[in-house]
Amino acid sequence: MQAYLDCNATTQPLPEVIDAMASCMRERWANPSSVHRAGVEARHAMELSREQVARLIGCAPRSVTFTSGGTEAAQRVILGAVAARTDRPAIATSALEHSAVRELAQSLESRGTTVHWLRHRPDGVIDLDALDALLAEHGASISVLSLMWANNETGVLQPIRDVAARCRASGVVMHTDAVQWVGREATEWSTLGIDALTCSAHKLHGPKGVGAIAMRAGAAIESILPGGPQELGRRAGTENVAGIVGFGMAAEAARTWLVNEAATAPCRSLIATLERALLAAIPDAIVNAAASPRLWNTSSIAFPGLEAEAILLLLSERGVAASAGAACSSGSLEPSPVLRAMGLPDPVAHGTIRLSVSRSTTAGEIDHATRVIPACIERLRLSSSASVRGSR
Ligand code: PLP
Repeated sequence: MQAYLDCNATTQPLPEVIDAMASCMRERWANPSSVHRAGVEARHAMELSREQVARLIGCAPRSVTFTSGGTEAAQRVILGAVAARTDRPAIATSALEHSAVRELAQSLESRGTTVHWLRHRPDGVIDLDALDALLAEHGASISVLSLMWANNETGVLQPIRDVAARCRASGVVMHTDAVQWVGREATEWSTLGIDALTCSAHKLHGPKGVGAIAMRAGAAIESILPGGPQELGRRAGTENVAGIVGFGMAAEAARTWLVNEAATAPCRSLIATLERALLAAIPDAIVNAAASPRLWNTSSIAFPGLEAEAILLLLSERGVAASAGAACSSGSLEPSPVLRAMGLPDPVAHGTIRLSVSRSTTAGEIDHATRVIPACIERLRLSSSASVRGSR
């Protein structure tokens, strides 16, 4: 039995996504900018996908720009807003962001840009009073505020609409990195009041290497790469038509799932069931940010005193795939910057693993994890106490 509980790292492409991509590569391989018939057919396939992605987000198809993924999408928005507002040389973001945003902000900061790091409460949610104070003092100099909707490590949700209203009042472009949100919860673009949202196909059972920006018409965000006129001049470069077609299929499947309460309800309880079972079986386990509003699919759970890497290796041997911190930092022994920024003590941060599910996760996988994880923790605790005794 295998349990794949690493859906925030990536999700398995749906069979219909794979089929659509394969047939696109066989039959719709022409350049979608070409005027001949084959080019027009490729363009049509791409435009159908744009409609499907737009429908999932709730925006107009014209608002959607395809990119090479969530990283490029977020960076295009942030750098594009900075380029559009040279009279506002500062940016604002949080230390809790995915590295795609956090490291861009750090890199801009190291080259002289003022970055206002938003204050958050210990539960990982942005402090709105501190944001009010920041915008009152510095709002006029900030071009863009970037705040993720759902955290990829803890699942903590940010009050995106409240932040957007404040940004609007200060003339600040608001971007949300919604990579972990889109496809797992409904996205009602018209109620958000934001300027730009970014997402990624591979988190919603689509292919890797394709993402999207939804952008408000008239938002102060420039195209940052000169080149061809693709994507209405917003993103130069020949489009990844097969990837986009796969994204469209995945978006349509996610939308259909999201409106079907009978299908969503059982998925929503999977992680809660697993957390309850683990807390009952392992008395000193801690669910990080347990009291915060969280996405239904993510659990950041700590086994203080153990090393996450050791836990993950043993879990993997016994058929449970999970991760520590961000997937991109696997191989590093440092606890993730997000857990550090949340102020978790070292023994808790070092012993934290992330369990994340998707709508394709089965109750059988959760049962398997419920049996395997406590056994692995017990074994690691026994071997670490034996090695402490041995070293005396
Ligand atoms: N933003 C968040 C919150 C993510 O979790 C990820 C990927 O893990 C990204 C951005 C980057 O997306 P991509 O892998 O499509 O570049």
